[in-house]
Amino acid sequence: MITPILPTYGRADLEFESGEGPFLITPAGDRYLDFGAGIAVASLGHAHPHLVEALETQAKKLWHTSNLYRIPGQERLAERLVAATFADTVFFTNSGAEALECSIKMARKFHAVNGAPERDELITFEGAFHGRTLATISAGGQEKYLEGFGRRMPGFVQVPMGDLKALKEAIGPNTAGVLLEPIEGEGGIRPWELTALQSIRNLCDDAGILLVLDEVQTGVGRTGKLYAHELAGVTPDIMASAKGLGGGFPVGACLATEDAAKGMTAGTHGSTFGGNPLAMAVANGVLDVVLEEGFLEAVQQKGLKLKQKLAMLADENSDIIETVRGEGLMLGLKCKIPNTELVGALVERKLLTVGAGDNVVRLLPPLIIDDIHIDQAIDTIAEACGALRAAKAQKEAAK
Ligand SMILES: *Cc1c(COP(=O)(O)O)cnc(C)c1O
Repeated sequence: MITPILPTYGRADLEFESGEGPFLITPAGDRYLDFGAGIAVASLGHAHPHLVEALETQAKKLWHTSNLYRIPGQERLAERLVAATFADTVFFTNSGAEALECSIKMARKFHAVNGAPERDELITFEGAFHGRTLATISAGGQEKYLEGFGRRMPGFVQVPMGDLKALKEAIGPNTAGVLLEPIEGEGGIRPWELTALQSIRNLCDDAGILLVLDEVQTGVGRTGKLYAHELAGVTPDIMASAKGLGGGFPVGACLATEDAAKGMTAGTHGSTFGGNPLAMAVANGVLDVVLEEGFLEAVQQKGLKLKQKLAMLADENSDIIETVRGEGLMLGLKCKIPNTELVGALVERKLLTVGAGDNVVRLLPPLIIDDIHIDQAIDTIAEACGALRAAKAQKEAAK
């Protein structure tokens, strides 16, 4: 019999009642160290006092008025994002996929108003993940998400990640732009070479097409920069943001330059909930913290420390962990055993992580972790590796 909740997720039999910084607490009072942060969402940890205050204050005043009227929190957040990034303008959404939908529509519209409506195709890369709407599963191109849902939506072509020659060859008279994640998240924490990103920016400029970045996972401080493209010193024309932007409140954003956004005039796009006062209050609260002087530098330092310790741990457990990769607090352990086994062994030891493609275990802790949390995570991973090794040896001895 079908469950009341549509069974599209294979869920762990684990529930949490409250949260406190980087910890999640079960009804029985067990504390789990959350190095998944709800898939890179709880950027400031759980129940951050500043965010709780922002939401409570707004909740007592006003919840929703729609985009038929001015929304002061939206204007403030847009101004701050514009001041802090390449962008001149922002559209607010409720999720990452919707931020991508807006980005895709905007890229097409840009060429349409430029007199080239045939340019409606985005080039994406193998291993990409852009969301679960019909357009974004076509953009991501992953068979496992497309299967059974009918014909792919036209307008997306895919080339291997890192293959600039294939990218160059794929650019043609129908190309609207290039869409990529600076570090593939669901695909397994696969970072682009920074020089490759610079080359792609140049390729786009030469071809008169747009660079569209999906920074839904990499954004809002995750890599130690406000947005990951800053690491490469290039800027996109259009960018999708979400996940960490709301620190746990559903919110997304499509950021763009004035030129890229020029086709998006009144009536061309919309969202009933997008940029709702509650979401704006919380997202402004997230920016208060992330843009505080020294916050991003601290994320870089914590990221370096975690990565160094993981690299040592990988050396000592080279039968289980192949490599450590990623940037800031977006790190991946490429495994030699099935990644699900390591994730499971860590859950048993009350450390939460997230599996990813390419047999990777993702570490995406809240950006507010301290050294003691890094040490606790490292000790737990070392212990799990030891236990997995012992279990394997026992199994082999029994043969
Ligand atoms: C999570 C994610 C999305 C989709 O975001 P939703 O909020 O689940 O719609 C898109 N792109 C990337 C890179 C993501 O990590």
